[in-house]
Amino acid sequence: MAPAILWYRRDLRVHDLPALQAAIESGGDDGVIPVFCFDDRLIHGRFASARRTGYLLETLKALDERWHDLGGRLWWRHGDPSKELAKIVDDTGATEVHATEDVTAFARARDDRASNAIEAAGATLHLHPGLAIAADLDAIQTQGGKPHIVFTPFSKVWAQQERRQLIKAPTSLHTPRGNRGDLPTLADLGFDAADAKVEDPPEPGEIAGVHHAGQWADGKLASGGLAKYEDLRSDLPSQTSRLSTYLHYGSLSPLLAERLVLDAGGPGSATFRNELAWRDFYLNVQRQFPHTATTEFQEKYRALKWEHDDEALQAWKDGKTGYPVVDAAMRQLNATGFMHNRARMVVASFLTKDLHLNWREGEAYFMHQLLDGDLASNNGGWQWTASTGTDPAPYFRRMFNPTLQQKKFDPKGEYVRRWCPELAGVPDKLLPEPWKMTPEQQADAGCVIGDDYPEPIVDHAEERGHAVERYQAVSAG
Ligand SMILES: Cc1cc2nc3c(=O)[nH]c(=O)nc-3n(C[C@H](O)[C@H](O)[C@H](O)COP(=O)(O)OP(=O)(O)OC[C@H]3O[C@@H](n4cnc5c(N)ncnc54)[C@H](O)[C@@H]3O)c2cc1C
Repeated sequence: MAPAILWYRRDLRVHDLPALQAAIESGGDDGVIPVFCFDDRLIHGRFASARRTGYLLETLKALDERWHDLGGRLWWRHGDPSKELAKIVDDTGATEVHATEDVTAFARARDDRASNAIEAAGATLHLHPGLAIAADLDAIQTQGGKPHIVFTPFSKVWAQQERRQLIKAPTSLHTPRGNRGDLPTLADLGFDAADAKVEDPPEPGEIAGVHHAGQWADGKLASGGLAKYEDLRSDLPSQTSRLSTYLHYGSLSPLLAERLVLDAGGPGSATFRNELAWRDFYLNVQRQFPHTATTEFQEKYRALKWEHDDEALQAWKDGKTGYPVVDAAMRQLNATGFMHNRARMVVASFLTKDLHLNWREGEAYFMHQLLDGDLASNNGGWQWTASTGTDPAPYFRRMFNPTLQQKKFDPKGEYVRRWCPELAGVPDKLLPEPWKMTPEQQADAGCVIGDDYPEPIVDHAEERGHAVERYQAVSAG
């Protein structure tokens, strides 16, 4: 026998990993070589991010410690994975390489190339489930045998599809001796450590991820966790699960997340499971319609005319639009690498339908800043809000009024005051529209509009009308 290779990508765990289970079986006594290959085409690709690369390195360190505790070690490579894996096959005599199947066009092309190179070196690449909850996304089809483009019917079939068995973490692992390579630093990868810093990141790694998911499901977190989810998930000051970063890196198995919330039960359970279904929905959108990674799903909206306004874009990025809820959300993103889901919809609507800027600008900025930045969910969320994507609804139904959103989802102003401290002294009633304060009220609040806090950069009611005209112009054609 020869050792088997486990090619890690964004499935950075040892629990519930079909690719690892298969590698253990095929490696037998010769063990498993777990390899992570730093691929510059991804690290410095169109969605390069110092923050996510920094968090990736921390997650990998935690994974290596996990392997070490179980008796193995991770191997590191830097370069084209096809070449690097073929070399390891050559050096070790491995005949099998196992990996978790991914859905994006980039990943699939990479895996095709790698498969050829690995085969030429004398081994075979096997792809396994583990990225999505559904074991077989392709099997989730309409009655006419087509992929779903609307979420609700997708989620109904998805919820009924039989799940694969959860796989427990192995109790021991063995990695043969060999050239492990070195884990690069952030600087080695071309990033400045200062650019990777965020406030209060989730503790990296699968031990932390699984623990956090368990605490969340059992309601043991200060936020109340799953038990409060049904009532509070849209409230901006409340804490949703914050599992997205773990799910993005695969340090938490999505199937385990689903199991934990189903076992916990209660009113939040079905709602939360439905949110997890959105993740699978968007993975499936990338799998079935890979062109949507760069193109509007709705053909008619490919003709939309977007504005080019660097000043407005910068104000949006900096959280200086003059709309408190938009600014609070962008500052939360800039400080922490996270943003509440409702806030993501509000700021995405503001960018596309108030500022009339291309959704791709927002998509790219989110990918730059978010720790959970994920091509499928992010592209899906942006196209959903811009009304250009799957799960279509008339564009005017997805125009968020920032003032009303703030009144409804942050009525006491906790979220806004947390992230826009210059508005701390503004009374609750005036907080959604601080520009309407009289000079006396501004003096009392200790906040002069146009000085301490910006004037609104646009008038929402007016821009709403312009957005309708823009969308109508291309809808008719
Ligand atoms: C414009 C926009 C961009 C987004 N970009 C991303 C992104 O880059 N990465 C990302 O993981 N999510 C993205 N989302 C989806 C959602 O906002 C986040 O998953 C969620 O806020 C993460 O916080 P949480 O884990 O506390 O969520 P919870 O509310 O606790 O939900 C639990 C899990 O369900 C999944 N989920 C929930 N809502 C969605 C959704 N709308 N789409 C897909 N999955 C969902 C996530 O895996 C999440 O971790 C985006 C949404 C919008 C509107």
